Amino acid sequence: QFLQESPVRRRDELGELSEGISYMSREIEQSFARQKQFIGNVSHEFKTPLTSIIAYSDLLDMYRDDPELLEEARMNIRREADRLLEMVEKVLHLSAMEQYEFNLNAERIDVQEPLEEACSRLRGKAVTFDLSIETDFKPAIIRADRESLMHIFLNLIDNGIKYNVPGGTVHVACRTEGDRAIISFRDTGIGIPQEARAKLFEPFFTVSKDRARLTGGTGLGLSLVKRLVELQQGSITIAAPASNEQGTAFIVAFPIVVKSLQA
Ligand code: ADP
Repeated sequence: QFLQESPVRRRDELGELSEGISYMSREIEQSFARQKQFIGNVSHEFKTPLTSIIAYSDLLDMYRDDPELLEEARMNIRREADRLLEMVEKVLHLSAMEQYEFNLNAERIDVQEPLEEACSRLRGKAVTFDLSIETDFKPAIIRADRESLMHIFLNLIDNGIKYNVPGGTVHVACRTEGDRAIISFRDTGIGIPQEARAKLFEPFFTVSKDRARLTGGTGLGLSLVKRLVELQQGSITIAAPASNEQGTAFIVAFPIVVKSLQA
């Protein structure tokens, strides 16, 4: 019986093996294509601030006798250089994550705590933009890397401030729902057009280039946030605001470790 079955079994195994190999090669091809596109985007995005820096440096000589124009050129060079540095840091962060060099230090953590810290770190900035940060926290214990959580929360709250309007609010809340911790970031800002939502988490995507330059945005923040959330078994979605509401809402969910008694 073994002798009869064996060639069939071997044929099946060979079939599975070749399917596996072609799946892997498709994955590798796709990953190369993604990397090629990413490198293309990086080079393109780096060119804009570099071109400005070169242009303003050329103007320094011309503006030598005009302290006001000189100061303006200096400030523009500084702003573009800061933007470039931020991009380099974010690209390095993203590539470290892709190469699995990234050390996740998972620990039991009540999300209220890093949320409180992120809010208090950004309250000063909110006030300077005439905004307020409101909170509504319930205990929710998850397993996650604290530093990554801080990065995620700071980014989302900062976006809620950057893309807001004077007198507006950023509302941050956390609670448990079933076996998940739900963290929401709602702002009363300018909102995100429906057609832009699908691309929002792609690297370098900005709703409008002008808007991104004014706010010093790089379009890398949300792609980093999504990778960090997913590395911790979480998910992030953008919620459609109610028809009479303006602004944006991001919902982050993580599996909880201990069901909260107060949930
Ligand atoms: P950036 O560094 O440009 O802010 P992000 O990846 O964080 O990059 O965001 C991508 C784009 O999504 C931004 O350029 C902005 O247009 C839009 N965006 C992100 N968050 C918000 C928000 N809370 N309200 C409105 N627009 C937002």
